[in-house]
Amino acid sequence: MKYIKLNFIFGALLFASTGSYAQQEVIDTAAFSRIRKAELSSSQIPQIAHYLTDVSGPRLTNSPGYARAASWAVATMKKWGMTNAATEPWGTFGKQWEVQDFSMMMRAPYNAQIRAYPNPWSPGSTGLLQGEVMIITSAQAIDTVYLNSHATGFKGKFVLVTGEAADYKKDFEPSAERLADTALANLKDTYMVSRSMIDMYTTKYLKIFKTADRILKNAGALAFISAGRSNVNGTVFVQGRYGYKLTDPETVPQVTMASEDGQKIKRLIQSGQKVELAMSFTDKTSTEDTNGYNVVGEIPGTDPKLKSQLVMLGGHLDSWQAATGATDNAAGCIVMLEAVRLLDSLGLKPKRTIRIALWSGEEQGLLGSFGYVKSHFRDGVKFTVKPEQAKVSAYFNLDNGTGKIRGIFAQNNEKMKPIFEQWLKPFNDLGATTVTMANTGSTDHLAFDWAGIPGFQFVQDPIDYETRTHHSNMDDYDHLMIDDLKQAAIIVASFVYQASIRPEMLPRKPLVNETFVFDGF
Ligand SMILES: [Zn+2]
Repeated sequence: MKYIKLNFIFGALLFASTGSYAQQEVIDTAAFSRIRKAELSSSQIPQIAHYLTDVSGPRLTNSPGYARAASWAVATMKKWGMTNAATEPWGTFGKQWEVQDFSMMMRAPYNAQIRAYPNPWSPGSTGLLQGEVMIITSAQAIDTVYLNSHATGFKGKFVLVTGEAADYKKDFEPSAERLADTALANLKDTYMVSRSMIDMYTTKYLKIFKTADRILKNAGALAFISAGRSNVNGTVFVQGRYGYKLTDPETVPQVTMASEDGQKIKRLIQSGQKVELAMSFTDKTSTEDTNGYNVVGEIPGTDPKLKSQLVMLGGHLDSWQAATGATDNAAGCIVMLEAVRLLDSLGLKPKRTIRIALWSGEEQGLLGSFGYVKSHFRDGVKFTVKPEQAKVSAYFNLDNGTGKIRGIFAQNNEKMKPIFEQWLKPFNDLGATTVTMANTGSTDHLAFDWAGIPGFQFVQDPIDYETRTHHSNMDDYDHLMIDDLKQAAIIVASFVYQASIRPEMLPRKPLVNETFVFDGF
């Protein structure tokens, strides 16, 4: 007792004598302890994860799987007693699409199953297609002069793009990792995509892809198959380049194949053998409802003066479709849903209103969050801010896989560093220690940052996100680290609650008048 008192006085003197210390945050550590205890004793994370992945299925934007997950999230938030739980349209997305049937076999020189997946929004095959394989290189695949001059050769063929075989020396390295203290101390800007990179993609490469695909379609090719060298060890990364917009041109069926199968076919052809494939592929495409939808829900604030203000949290609910998008990004949605469930079930009384938002269209260029921000907070063309923009204290995002929280990106907001350092202290024992000034990109907090609202993404352990699960056929429930998600839910719930009771809103960076980096997708 004496020690504590002396220490307190000494601390107070020190504080008074320097005067330059950052403002002391009044932290509700009792609430933090209750949140931690509740999560560790009665977590709902396994159940939420099961419904968002196994039960909903792949959640490609506007697909039936996305709709299942969104309906479940709305119904569940209502069941928990949250208010204003609903889906909210954010603008036009495009087609609804899902795979109903797909198989690929090698038929010559012998029968063998091929490990392959249809690309999202690809048209189906209208019946069983069988034909010879013709191989082109990845350089030839985007060389429209080459494709045009060889067009007659593509008729009735499966056009397969393969390059070099993979480097299997990588198998000697672990596929999953946690961040070392040295890595945390030296975090740099991460996942940054510049305006010029996006312009290069949308105005140059996307046009080339569309032209190349049109040449193959007009030439009568059976399908376009890519077997990139990263698709090894049973892990196949499957994305769609375009095809969801009503204005997108029709292509031949688009397929992604395991590298080992692609290399085998290439060696067979090189040794003079004729290789034939057979493919059956049925898709279901609809244009009945072309709107994109986010999911929102609220815990009302309890302070008469502050309840009109908001603290927001979220992550993107959409995924790719070769698996159930467990780490990208059911994980983020699981944590955010669990965080609001904890706050609600503990009867904590947030002063500001807490609003969760689960986005769609993130994988196509942060479409859902940017659409939401445009309709609520800031005009995308004139850059004028709307009244609601002044009422949001902060937005917290989670979208870097299943790894636990090791800190937070202050997103170059220097006033936030001392605040977050104080908030994070009670979680240092859980491995969350780092507040970095660095920026991170490529996910939905950027839309808020652009609108002048403090938007943050947490620093997470990578685990096997980059090597195994991100956009792959392996992104299923089994790759979730449930204990890591519990740790993340404890920290997110505490941060959101703390932001809701803080006397002032969180400090902002100056508003910048520039086009949103992902605008134009
Ligand atoms: Zn993601």
